[in-house]
Amino acid sequence: MNFANKHTVITGGANGIGRCIAETFLREGATVTIIDIDNNPIKGADFFHGDIAKKEVLERFVSSLNRPVDCLINNACIGCGGLLSGCSYEDFEYVQRVGVTAPFYLTQLLMQKNLLAPNASIVNISSTRANQSQPNTEAYTAAKGGISALTHAMAVSLAGKARVNAISPGWIDTTGSTFEGADAAQHPAGRVGVPADIAEMVLSLCSDKAGFITGENITIDGGMSRLMVYHNDHGWKLEG
Ligand code: NAD
Repeated sequence: MNFANKHTVITGGANGIGRCIAETFLREGATVTIIDIDNNPIKGADFFHGDIAKKEVLERFVSSLNRPVDCLINNACIGCGGLLSGCSYEDFEYVQRVGVTAPFYLTQLLMQKNLLAPNASIVNISSTRANQSQPNTEAYTAAKGGISALTHAMAVSLAGKARVNAISPGWIDTTGSTFEGADAAQHPAGRVGVPADIAEMVLSLCSDKAGFITGENITIDGGMSRLMVYHNDHGWKLEG
């Protein structure tokens, strides 16, 4: 993989998985630009402070770019509860703007300004929650369903111009904690995920070696969503 001449833009690159993605691309010699609402720059990366839920912020951000983008990583998202916690109309809509509208509009702006490099790669960070839920997660889950569907729509529209793929992480610890016992054992892989599990796949999907992969969603969850769960099976018990 050679990213020496590649420009990578990462939304939400100041913390967590996005920060690890930024550090991974910097390690490979890429030029990295981050946009984040949290003013927490990374040494060696360009940093734009702003809220990607705002149309005018996205427009100012794209106007500030001084070279075409080879890799666009739509990583930022937030949760905001749902039906059981009084998530308001405005709260719900805000999450969709961060998680779905911004990835769409950022891509559209890059195209309009001729800033999408030839053979670009777009990676959207979805979630296993696009397909399964805990209670009270409507805003986030809808955004993740949206970005998963957006991925195959964009892959088809951008045929010949850019490859567009999604990654659906499961439980990825971004705090550096150690999880043992049931937290680890419930995953077929035997552990909780770490940001590098996602970042290395983002890098692979952006490399020329992934040139035949587009419109795809790759689940990285230690096998958790493949586990069939029945009461009393493997020690699982439904309480209450
Ligand atoms: P995080 O909260 O640690 O980091 C998210 C980053 O996005 C932060 O730097 C935050 O400031 C930024 N951000 C949030 N709203 C923004 C906005 N409006 N404008 C600009 N920047 C904004 O989250 P994370 O755990 O690193 O998650 C990264 C991505 O991975 C998200 O899309 C998340 O849904 C997805 N994901 C995470 C997990 C997990 O277990 N950590 C699991 C599945 C999916």
